[in-house]
Amino acid sequence: ARAWHLTARPQGWPTPSDFALREQPVEAPTSGRILVRNLLMSVDPYMRGRMDDVKSYVPPFQLDEPMDGGAVGEVVASEAEGFAPGDHVLHGLGWREYATLDARHATKVSADAAPLSAYLGVLGMTGLTAYAGLFEVASFQEGDAVFVSGAAGAVGSQVGQMARLKGASRVIGSAGSAEKVRLLTEEYGFDAAFNYKDGPVAEQLREAAPDGIDVYFDNVGGEHLEAAIRSFNVHGRATICGMISQYNAEKPSPAPRNLALLIGKRLRLQGMLVQDHRHLQPRFVEEVSAWVRSGELKYDETVVEGIDNAVDAFLGMLKGENTGKMIVRVGD
Ligand code: NDP
Repeated sequence: ARAWHLTARPQGWPTPSDFALREQPVEAPTSGRILVRNLLMSVDPYMRGRMDDVKSYVPPFQLDEPMDGGAVGEVVASEAEGFAPGDHVLHGLGWREYATLDARHATKVSADAAPLSAYLGVLGMTGLTAYAGLFEVASFQEGDAVFVSGAAGAVGSQVGQMARLKGASRVIGSAGSAEKVRLLTEEYGFDAAFNYKDGPVAEQLREAAPDGIDVYFDNVGGEHLEAAIRSFNVHGRATICGMISQYNAEKPSPAPRNLALLIGKRLRLQGMLVQDHRHLQPRFVEEVSAWVRSGELKYDETVVEGIDNAVDAFLGMLKGENTGKMIVRVGD
């Protein structure tokens, strides 16, 4: 079976030559373990950080070893109690066709309750990130004006809609194409949206939010964060969720250059990691699946076919080729 390996540490933008799809033996499960045939795998921005050899909150990928990440698959052999062939599981050994793992690291998921891809997105890690980041980290309150960057992506699209559903006074989003901007206002119910490539973010944000913002959900960093600081009302709160504009930058961005505004506006900028918010999981699943069933919360997915195209899917996601969650279909 095949698995993607990292073969070189990228400098700046990764290129296909930093990766190789290699054969490796399929391991039969021993006691307590399961063999899973992967059906879907996730490509996520945080994986870029794991390609660098630096200490971080997740260990770096090892060179010439299979990469890993979120995946959903079908159990094909089990030596673990409670897991049988045919069960579907969410687990952490993506980037490969077959995975053998300790069943304690797998969560059973139901294909009847939701499409399996949803467990990697709207009902999975990125959905929980949106939910926790907005309601817990940013202390969102009804009546807040909310700005979210990366707003047509997996996390951002959910943040904006959740804010709307919970009574935001105004929801503003930024994204990287006219088509995405249209999606935000026409499908997701944002009050205003702009293409950050059309002109300075600070000016576009000020036009979209003439009365200022109370919450900024940051997926991008740099110029976007600087613009949000400028547009913040007193006691504004930012969830620093991601800084994708910096992940491939060889030199750090000088922005934000206006941090002195934090003082007079009494702003709070808080970083987050989704894994700190697992206690919200039951409430999140209950509330969000009800919104999805009723059609109040929409979600998109961009599905790339075939494990051969997984690296292209990852690179495409970094460049904005996805709308909603970027997913790779590994098998049927
Ligand atoms: P997305 O689905 O949003 O995909 C990434 C998107 O980023 C692209 O589609 C692209 O959209 C946008 N983008 C790329 N480069 C730039 C740039 N220079 N400026 C502005 N936008 C850019 O990914 P996710 O929803 O999975 O993740 C969104 C953010 O959340 C990331 O920063 C990620 O690291 C972070 N994250 C953090 C977590 C945590 O626990 N802290 C957990 C999960 C995600 P466009 O066409 O609009 O440019």
